[in-house]
Amino acid sequence: MSQVSDKINLLGLDQQGLIAFFAELGEKPFRARQLLQWIHQRGVTDFAEMTDLSRQLRLRLGAVATIEVPRAIRESESSDGCVKWLLTERGGSAVETVFIPETGRGTLCISSQVGCMLNCTFCSTATQGFKRNLSPDEVIGQVWFAKQRLDQLTGGQARITNVVFMGMGEPLLNLTAVKPALALLRDDLAYGLASRKVTISTAGVVPGIDQLAEGVEFALAVSLHAPTNELRQRLVPLNRKYPLDDLMAACRRYVAHDQRRSVTFEYTMIEGVNDQLSHAKGLRRLLNALPCKVNLIPFNPFPGTPFRPSSNETMHAFQMAVRTAGIVTTIRKTRGDDIDAACGQLVGQVLSPNERRRLVQTQLAKQALMA
Ligand code: SAH
Repeated sequence: MSQVSDKINLLGLDQQGLIAFFAELGEKPFRARQLLQWIHQRGVTDFAEMTDLSRQLRLRLGAVATIEVPRAIRESESSDGCVKWLLTERGGSAVETVFIPETGRGTLCISSQVGCMLNCTFCSTATQGFKRNLSPDEVIGQVWFAKQRLDQLTGGQARITNVVFMGMGEPLLNLTAVKPALALLRDDLAYGLASRKVTISTAGVVPGIDQLAEGVEFALAVSLHAPTNELRQRLVPLNRKYPLDDLMAACRRYVAHDQRRSVTFEYTMIEGVNDQLSHAKGLRRLLNALPCKVNLIPFNPFPGTPFRPSSNETMHAFQMAVRTAGIVTTIRKTRGDDIDAACGQLVGQVLSPNERRRLVQTQLAKQALMA
């Protein structure tokens, strides 16, 4: 997304931010509400079209501000109806955003960073390394873009009812951008989603869980993938910094804020690595008495990875074993894999399979050196 450097991009400001912006211009707070509706509900990016603002105010806004939205470099549709966009962001980088339609709902999976610094060994985003945090306008810009584009494509049929921060990056390491985006997603004058329809997925950034849990309502998903520190730190290196005891304590603090809260634990099933019944037993012990549910995700392969998905049979046996503890356990259907839009397949760059394979190999060699 190109940015005219001396103008502020109003796309990334939540209601509070817009009120502060208008206060500096000597304007009343209701201007913020007008702007929110123009930008996020009507999709208008040209101040000249905002007919309930005076001509003078429109000219002033044009002089100091802009509404810069992302553009799509590529749009792909999968055979099961998922749509993936590669969106331009500042400085030539790109991120991926995926729309997943289901009966009665539509989930948008958005990114929070260009690349990722967490190096999870089974995730293809890790293979491109970390480039930078997205800015607030770049995070919410993905929702703005998807809403407008889906309206164009389906005449309002396909609607975004849920948003999940499960694309590229670690949302709790970019709270500066994620917080205003959350506020806009929930604001009735922007996207108007209920708090439980917006999910933050984290690899386990403990201070981030605490920071968000205090002030904001949202649904929490934790990428667990293993019941012991020994195994988890091989899959999620961040576990060395925030081991399971600390992570589980943070989850318990999160639910303690409000008895309606519960945590979803994501568990990617990798053949022969974390899919045995002993792991299921460990999981039952770990989650004991915590209001939660477990979502089993079949590992999605990508070029160069040494891992394979668990078989359906193994997944079902594992599901049953966790369920015996009364924990709701579901198996996530893989969606959009024919366009590389499934979990852990987002790389946000136009890389050939060969280039990706090379990157993965470099990454694995680095990890072997660190181990
Ligand atoms: N950083 C955040 C959000 C991005 S990943 C997090 O870690 O939660 C979104 C989910 O996809 C996570 O649960 C992640 O562990 C999972 N995932 C990553 N790579 C995957 C793969 N190759 N197959 C299946 N799930 C994967």
